[in-house]
Amino acid sequence: MSTAASERLVRTLRRHIFDERVLAAVAAVPRDRFVPRDLLPEAWENIPLPIGAGQTISQPLVVARMCELLELEGHERVLDVGTGSGYHAALLARLAAEVYSIERHAALSGRAALALEAAGVGNVTLAVGDGSLGLPAHAPYDAINVAAAARRRIPPALIEQLAPGGRLVAPVEERGEQRLALLRVHGGELRVTRLERVRFVPLRS
Ligand code: SAH
Repeated sequence: MSTAASERLVRTLRRHIFDERVLAAVAAVPRDRFVPRDLLPEAWENIPLPIGAGQTISQPLVVARMCELLELEGHERVLDVGTGSGYHAALLARLAAEVYSIERHAALSGRAALALEAAGVGNVTLAVGDGSLGLPAHAPYDAINVAAAARRRIPPALIEQLAPGGRLVAPVEERGEQRLALLRVHGGELRVTRLERVRFVPLRS
């Protein structure tokens, strides 16, 4: 891993991300392990990159922002929908106690397993399947991260699998525009905040 490159990335993110634990996680997770070999020179740039199967590893700033919104302290159980390369799951794994990550493409999940192992990440459990149904076997989750865009509404199964006080962050597409949505369960009530514009592949169920 290039220390200079990771420090440069963290300096870039520092203008927008204020949670020091998130910045430390970005510095510590070797993004070069999660990108295809031919894209290694760009691994530490603040840009999304193709990872095969028509999917992308998200831009580090967006991954960091979504992690920050989940306000993780270290003791949580987290569900990550859309494993992709496994990079986002690896960051979550540094911020929480255990991460369950589900991906519909078995080949991507297989590659993510190798990358996570190479990166020395031990607290991520991978599953293959339709993440819009969540992963009921390990529910409830203190936090849920969705890395693919839902159409108009967050899948109800995911909301049902949130623990009391839980947070969920997801890109939601509405009227042709994708925005991050942050959902919280507060005293049995749901609160949804719509945030900045983003660009994610669709959540397919
Ligand atoms: N978090 C990833 C990037 C995710 S890209 C990373 O850090 O690299 C979005 C991923 O969501 C893709 O890999 C896509 O295959 C997956 N996906 C889309 N719909 C899904 C669904 N219903 N269930 C599980 N995975 C899904």
